[in-house]
Amino acid sequence: MRIIRTIPELRAAVAESRKTGASVGLVPTMGAFHEGHLSLMRAARKANGLVVVSLFVNPTQFGANEDLGSYPRDEERDAAMAEAEGVDLLFAPDASEIYPEGFATSIHVSGLTDVLDGASRGALHFDGVATVVTKLLNIVTPDVAYFGQKDAQQVLVVRRLVRDLNLDVRIEACPIVRESDGLAMSSRNVYLDADARRQATALNRGLDDAAALAASGVRDAATLTGAVRRMLAHADIEPEYVELRDLDDLSPVTELDGEALLAVAARVGAARLIDNHILRSADPRGGA
Ligand code: AMP
Repeated sequence: MRIIRTIPELRAAVAESRKTGASVGLVPTMGAFHEGHLSLMRAARKANGLVVVSLFVNPTQFGANEDLGSYPRDEERDAAMAEAEGVDLLFAPDASEIYPEGFATSIHVSGLTDVLDGASRGALHFDGVATVVTKLLNIVTPDVAYFGQKDAQQVLVVRRLVRDLNLDVRIEACPIVRESDGLAMSSRNVYLDADARRQATALNRGLDDAAALAASGVRDAATLTGAVRRMLAHADIEPEYVELRDLDDLSPVTELDGEALLAVAARVGAARLIDNHILRSADPRGGA
C-alpha cells in the first residue's frame, strides 16, 4: 500500500492502474478506522482492481463549536488497518492540498440538507461534505464510491450531487456495522465514558422497538418515533431529533407505507451520536 499526500501523485497512480483496465473503488473517510470503515474497504476490494481510501478530517464540515480539534487521529494505526484489508492507495493529504490559499467554491445541495442533521448541525455541515466529496470524486475519478448507511442523509446528498452534476460514478451504500450490543460503530464512540457507553445502546434499542411495532402493523409516525423517544427518556437521553422520513427525498412521513427512514440524533455524554433504521410496514398498501 502506498501513502500519497498530493493530488498530482494520486492522479498519476490512478492513471497508471487504469492502463491495466482496472476499475477504481474509492472509500472516503475521516480516519480513526473501525469495522464500519473496514466493511467499506472490503466491499471496494471485492469489486475493483484498484482500491483508494481517502483519509482527510475535513475542516469545512465541522461547525465552530464541534469537535474538529479533538477528532481522533491515528494515521499509523489507520494505515496498518487499511493495508491489512488490501487497500492499494491511502490518500492522506494536508488541508492545504485540498483547500489551497484562495479556495472559494462550495457545493450546496438544497432541500435535502435543510432537515435532520442539516437542521441540527447547520446547513454548512452538508456544504462541507458535498464540497469535499465532489473534490475527492474529481481527484480520484473512481468507478464506484462507497459510503455507509450509518450516515443515511449523507448518502442521499451524495447521490443527488452526483446526479445533478453528471458525475460519472456509481454510489454504493453499505449496511451499518454495529457493536455486539447494537451500538452503531463510530469514530466518536471513543468520547463515551463507561456510563455514556451503556446509555448509548438506547438509540439502537429504541429503533429496534419501532421496527418491531412497524412489523406488527403500526403505521402512525408519532407512535413509531414515540417508541424511540420512550427508550431514550428511559436512558436519560434528550434527542436532537427522532424523525420518520421518506427514503428518497427526506420529506416527512406521517403514515408508514412500504419503507421509510427512522433517524435519530442525540448527545450522549461527550459524544453526538446518530443512528437509523429503515422501517418496513407489515403490509404495504401498494401491495409490494
Ligand atoms: P467517517 O470516517 O466517519 O466520515 O466515515 C467514513 C465512511 O464510513 C462514511 O461513508 C460512513 O457512513 C461510513 N461509516 C461510519 N460508521 C459506519 C458504520 N458503523 N457502519 C457502516 N459504515 C460506517
